[in-house]
Amino acid sequence: MPRNPRYDTLFEPLRIGPKLAKNRFFQVPHASGMTNAAPHVRAAFRGMKAEGGWGVVCTGACSVDPSSDDSPFPCATLWDEADVRAHAVMTDAVHAHGALAGVELWHGGAAAMNRTTRAAMLSPSGVPWMATHVGFMSASRPRIMDAADIRDLIRWHAEAAVRAERAGFDILYVYAGMGYLPYQFLMSDYNHRTDAYGGSVRNRVRLVEELIDAVREATRGRCAVALRLSMQELRARPSEVAASEGHEVITLLRDAPDLFDVKMDYSATDCAASRFTPEGSHEPVVDFVKSLTDKPVVGVGRFTSPDTMVGMIRRGVLDFIGGARPSIADPFLPAKIDEGREAEIRECIGCNICISSWHDGVWVRCTQNPTAGEEWRRGWHPEQVRKDGAGSVLVVGGGPAGLEAALTLARRGYGVALADRAKDFGGRLRFETGLPGMKTWNRVAEYRLVQLRQMANVSLYPDSDLSAQDVLDFGADHVVVATGARWLPLLCGANELPAGTAKGPRIYTPDDLAAGYLPVGPVAVFDFDNYYLGTAIAEGLSAQGLEVTYVTTAGAASAWTFMTNEQPLIHQALARRGIGYRTLEIVTGFDGETLQLAQIFSGEARQIAARSLVIVGQRQGGSALHAALQAADLTAAGIRSLHLTGDANAPGAVAHAVYQGHRTAQELGRTAAEIRAGRDAPFAPRDFDRPAQAAQ
Ligand code: ADP
Ligand code: SF4
Repeated sequence: MPRNPRYDTLFEPLRIGPKLAKNRFFQVPHASGMTNAAPHVRAAFRGMKAEGGWGVVCTGACSVDPSSDDSPFPCATLWDEADVRAHAVMTDAVHAHGALAGVELWHGGAAAMNRTTRAAMLSPSGVPWMATHVGFMSASRPRIMDAADIRDLIRWHAEAAVRAERAGFDILYVYAGMGYLPYQFLMSDYNHRTDAYGGSVRNRVRLVEELIDAVREATRGRCAVALRLSMQELRARPSEVAASEGHEVITLLRDAPDLFDVKMDYSATDCAASRFTPEGSHEPVVDFVKSLTDKPVVGVGRFTSPDTMVGMIRRGVLDFIGGARPSIADPFLPAKIDEGREAEIRECIGCNICISSWHDGVWVRCTQNPTAGEEWRRGWHPEQVRKDGAGSVLVVGGGPAGLEAALTLARRGYGVALADRAKDFGGRLRFETGLPGMKTWNRVAEYRLVQLRQMANVSLYPDSDLSAQDVLDFGADHVVVATGARWLPLLCGANELPAGTAKGPRIYTPDDLAAGYLPVGPVAVFDFDNYYLGTAIAEGLSAQGLEVTYVTTAGAASAWTFMTNEQPLIHQALARRGIGYRTLEIVTGFDGETLQLAQIFSGEARQIAARSLVIVGQRQGGSALHAALQAADLTAAGIRSLHLTGDANAPGAVAHAVYQGHRTAQELGRTAAEIRAGRDAPFAPRDFDRPAQAAQ
């Protein structure tokens, strides 16, 4: 299909200093969990975005010196020649598709704890960055840089720039954002210096200016120099000579870099989850930058709508459409717009599982794109799959796992029947996306259903509750069971072990609420799942007018959402809705009027009034249908293989279910040797040789 002319502007080539970007799609630097220890993994991941049409593809942060070491977070380096070779694999992969390769030269200063190198942390004035009250906790405090340290820092950037150019990078970033060292110089809170680098904004900007000059001179103007700035705090600070300190900084630096990359300051706002933050949320903070400089400006905002992107350019907010998460969820987003296939974009849902994988210290994972991070290891491609499927597959269960399995199997060429007992597909998403802020997650189902409905080799059977006999009678060659998990009405002991089934009237699990039960208030939500659902349900019940108290075994609400940048906003949401909030407690009894609680560590007994109890605790997989089929004579029914996948196999986040569904679909009908044709032998999980249960 031809491109919609409305989107032509997105494909205009644009100059960045000495370099020319082929279009306006700019994959800004973002964490991938891929260090120099996995150069091919990283090259395949970044190269895929170049293949998908991004005009610029950048690395994540690359340390310029061992005094900036982010461990245990995965941290790439540009310290020596071995690092040059590791990065060159990536720049080759990016250049192979006509894109420019960018590198984010990075010094973390007081925000990098140097846990591996044990170098003293550096800072303008000895003020730590988020060292005590969030998970980056450390007992180390930074030293105050002297004049020689500043000279070293500038030299490290220059030397890293030389190595970066040798590695093949076109765009070299100076990074003054997100609490890292040059940012700390810009901010009066962290910079109390009385020398030429502290005091006035003019002085605080000096280091950034000198870093830009050093990087440019080191590569003699051959590479473009980009400046990445966090503007949230600077814009909020008054200035005597400009609209804000942010305006002052941009004015002072307006001619210095070849490109401005502007963003927010904190994880929760910079990489904001969709539960609380819509697309384009950076605009109010960065909209003024273009009015003060003639240099091109790139910014992000979880852009997945081409109309929003065009609006950003037409309204003079941005020159380049920055993408981090949208490029992970769909590396082919530019190509799809270019080819008039924007309806096929696999839109990021803003769940931030990708960020959690960086916090976990592993290669990036994505809810929407199960192939992310698996491009090299398993040889998976987000758009292409080997078309070797012959025969038919019945997929039972149309949740995230079943939908993904059905789509991938259909792409392989199998005739696919997808059945679900519910009237609509989507599985757990049917209920969960109706909760406050969760609507965007429905893109997981929508994207797959849009594709499945167009495929001639796919039949969809909603409203079809299949028994084992139904499956045997169906006559498919292969059967995939993706029937999901169920929430258990279990209590939890202080030792985190199950403490028996909860007894009392009006006790509900999320499955009960999904089935339409509405608790009477006041209601207590007891959460020991500790991901998003407990607080989302509390919000949902509160929105229905019920008085809600949220109780958790953890020290904070939705404790695991620290990993997904959501936690601060969840706390704000609970406060905004007036939801009572209790931590470090377990439920010990409930009689329909009073909820008995105990403090986890002291055992102190407490009680609150509650007429209903919702338990968001443990999920159990397994499938009676699968068990019955295992016991049946599959060969007699003509079934060649039977698979259990998704939450029914092992309950997890939606990302895990999609991944399992994809893997099942990739491995179905293939021998271990064929599967191993990917490159994952060294990483093979223990179950590698038994990907499927073949019919006996
Ligand atoms: P997952 O996350 O693994 O995809 P979900 O719980 O989201 O799991 O979805 C499982 C789906 O399977 C639900 O939509 C449910 O209605 C459906 N299902 C469960 N058992 C059957 C069955 N016997 N026949 C048809 N559909 C089923
Ligand atoms: Fe978007 Fe979630 Fe994928 Fe991250 S993991 S790119 S937030 S869909």
